[in-house]
Amino acid sequence: MTQQHADGFSSPMLEALQNAVRGAARATKFVHASTALSGLEKNDRSPVTVADWASQAVVALLLARDASTANIPLVGEEDATELRAPSHAMLRERVLEAVTHAIGNGFGVVTLEQCLDAIDSGRAQPSKRFLTLDPVDGTKGFLRREQYAISLGLIEDGRVTAGVVGCPNLARGEGNYDTADAVGCQAFAALGCGAFLQCGDDVAQPIRMREWSEGMDIRACESVESGHSKQDLSAALLAQLGAVGAPARLDSQAKYVVVARGGADVYLRLPTIKDYRECIWDHAAGTLIASEAGALITDVDGRVLDFSQGRKLSANRGIFAGNPRIVARLIDAFARVNHNA
Ligand code: AMP
Ligand code: MG
Repeated sequence: MTQQHADGFSSPMLEALQNAVRGAARATKFVHASTALSGLEKNDRSPVTVADWASQAVVALLLARDASTANIPLVGEEDATELRAPSHAMLRERVLEAVTHAIGNGFGVVTLEQCLDAIDSGRAQPSKRFLTLDPVDGTKGFLRREQYAISLGLIEDGRVTAGVVGCPNLARGEGNYDTADAVGCQAFAALGCGAFLQCGDDVAQPIRMREWSEGMDIRACESVESGHSKQDLSAALLAQLGAVGAPARLDSQAKYVVVARGGADVYLRLPTIKDYRECIWDHAAGTLIASEAGALITDVDGRVLDFSQGRKLSANRGIFAGNPRIVARLIDAFARVNHNA
């Protein structure tokens, strides 16, 4: 990619974002490889939190080292307050170990204090131009050793202008989302420049949504967690549109990547709680990648997503992302259900 973005965005910056996400993936994979994750959800959150903190530290350290990203405020999901507690010495050690592994020898020695400060550098407030990070998106998928993502998006004047979604467990082919791929993929996009997918060390390839026309089946995807998206309603809406198969279920923003590369025609995220508002880091990078690949992204009421509202998408609820004609029909179908409810 050699294009120059209208607002001065250039590929060195996108490369810096990609590099940071790649480094974070090395950290999360290291945590995975060195921890037994089964049955830890209730009693011991440590693998999740070690991966979250290590991932955010690596992204922040690598961004700070690159001239094109060093001065951009970072709005991350995590901070190091809990990690700094005296009782968490063991967790701190594990975070430092994962960070040290991920950044490698070229970076020099990283101290614990640098690590904690790097995590806390993600406490910036949303502003005119900032980066937003979900260091481990899809925690439940991470714990199941299925899909999760590291998601980093650049927001300028309320619009997402660059995004990287690292999917360490996503295979290059469709269909086996429940098993962790050994290599994984990374998707990235810049506004107006298209979307790309890199699998392992391969050369990145442009990606595009599947062409969909009348009479073709509609392939959908949604969250694994029924608490994150109303799955019985998505089944009802899709049935109204004549869809035959059940939606593929996978965690995290890997769903946007699957839509962008043509593995699904639409991603539905239907509110389960009336007042729940989505976090910007859960959607910034993924929505740009899908839209650059040809998807229409709206909320369930057909509104454009508004990234100018702070840490949440306060002006929106739920999400449809996919083929524009399918999304238009889902908005209609959703409105009818709501009207009749
Ligand atoms: P997913 O993997 O697509 O199911 O989404 C994971 C994300 O869902 C997490 O990062 C949470 O921030 C977010 N989340 C948590 N509670 C809800 C909810 N009630 N509705 C929608 N998203 C949620
Ligand atoms: Mg998340």
